[in-house]
Amino acid sequence: MALDFVGSVAQVPSMLSAVLLRPFGLATPKPFRRERQLPFFTFFDNGLGAEPDVPLGPNAATDSTQLSLTDKAPYYRGLYNPGVHCFMNSVVQSLCSVALLGAYLDAVTAMATRWDEPTPVTDALRVLYVQLNTPHAKSAPIVPRELKAILSTVLQANGMRSLISAHQQQDAQELALLLLAALDQELGNVQQERGRQWRRLNDGLRGVLAPSVDALGKPRGSLGWTGDDVTFPFRGQYAQRISCGECGYMEAVRFFTFSDVSLTVPTNVGVCTLEQCFGAWAQLEQVEWVCHRCSLQKTLRKAQAEHARLDALTRAGPMPGEKGRRRWNAHADELVAAQGNVENLAAALRQGLHESEFAASEIANTVQLVRTLGRSTKQVMLAKPPPVLVIHLNRSTFSLEAFGASKINTRVLFPEWLDMAPYTTGAHLATSATHPLSEPGGVYMYRLSALVTHYGAHNYGHYVSFRRRSSAGAHAESDNVANRSEWARISDESVQACSLHQVLAQNPYLLFYERVDLPLHPSIPPDSMRLHSVPRARLLHRWNPAL
Ligand SMILES: [Zn+2]
Repeated sequence: MALDFVGSVAQVPSMLSAVLLRPFGLATPKPFRRERQLPFFTFFDNGLGAEPDVPLGPNAATDSTQLSLTDKAPYYRGLYNPGVHCFMNSVVQSLCSVALLGAYLDAVTAMATRWDEPTPVTDALRVLYVQLNTPHAKSAPIVPRELKAILSTVLQANGMRSLISAHQQQDAQELALLLLAALDQELGNVQQERGRQWRRLNDGLRGVLAPSVDALGKPRGSLGWTGDDVTFPFRGQYAQRISCGECGYMEAVRFFTFSDVSLTVPTNVGVCTLEQCFGAWAQLEQVEWVCHRCSLQKTLRKAQAEHARLDALTRAGPMPGEKGRRRWNAHADELVAAQGNVENLAAALRQGLHESEFAASEIANTVQLVRTLGRSTKQVMLAKPPPVLVIHLNRSTFSLEAFGASKINTRVLFPEWLDMAPYTTGAHLATSATHPLSEPGGVYMYRLSALVTHYGAHNYGHYVSFRRRSSAGAHAESDNVANRSEWARISDESVQACSLHQVLAQNPYLLFYERVDLPLHPSIPPDSMRLHSVPRARLLHRWNPAL
């Protein structure tokens, strides 16, 4: 069934090329590039007992999130750890709890098959996603051999050192970022290949089959393929503004994309909340910053002083002798240049030339800017909250007393339901250095899907993941015992049911939240999608150590 899907859809663009383009001599049929990957569409031997050869259907990952434990299949399985791979196992388990990731992996696979583009990391993770979400008759762990092998290849091809060496414990956050970057890059490759094939098709058939207007007479924007509209669910954007408190100059608000938000864990308290960490992240902070306008003003004052000095020298008249006359002539020339500098700088200030405009102007060639630190403020806020929010709690600190890096053990309390609205920009962005970048606006509600916690010291220890079964989202309103057991504590091969209270009692290193106010979220049934249906008590829920 799945192989039929792979074959038939993959052939569509190639068939089009072969049948329609051959007369134009523009394309020759090529061997399928994804063909060599077919083994990834089947379960592989886990090394501890052969798996049945089950092919993956087109919606396998999405469907697997809806499966439940049965008497015949009473186990969710862990991941085999040959020694130091708990950093990878904990990240993979956590990612596989994210319902949106399942839908994404299915969509990218379908698209990659359609455009015949290899996506080895996506394929390997998709197989694991299905395996980890499918209840099994035996508790034997899965060996994530393919993902490891492919990640090593991808990382080396990109000039990164291999994270997946057999002998060294690594950082779970670093692996999560590299894995997400590899997925994102594969989506980009598929989109590029799609663009190439469409351009080729368009060029070959221009004026023959692709009219520039559609049947209703509207201009045709592009030739698309329904179902190709896939975006990377981990990609978010934050806005950063730096403004000078002395002159009011503001660098343009800049936007940066991210796939995780790294929060600093405070060292001076024993316990804090995740909201406090976000508050500190988005807080208006004082920074030392070279202000362009303050620099222009200081440069103007310097130019004026130079002009006054030359003016006084020329007014005094030349000293006697030929040498004196030559010096006076030189001063007179310099005075003209200084006059020009003063006028240009004053004009630049009057016109409010921005740093980049100034650098591109003629004045920049004649004047050396005096770089001046202004008392400035910096603020960052989320501009586009991602569908899946990965939060890294930075627990590394460097000190001489500790002889290098050590771990911050401050307990960070975190909620099941996280409201990101206070840290997200509204419609209006303020430019004043003394005002917040933006008043919060909109509704950005997230629900906890998984977390990774780390036991031990900075350079050694053990990563464990706590994850919710994706289908648990379908019962978001109920809080019965069965729902609680939708959580599991997973330490490599060991998978144990646990309660939400046990989850919220952990001290997290990585947190995985899914946005739940988005339409069509696969884990939320339509009738519970409206935000106000979330009970108020849940929104205010905080971990209580007494429980
Ligand atoms: Zn300034």
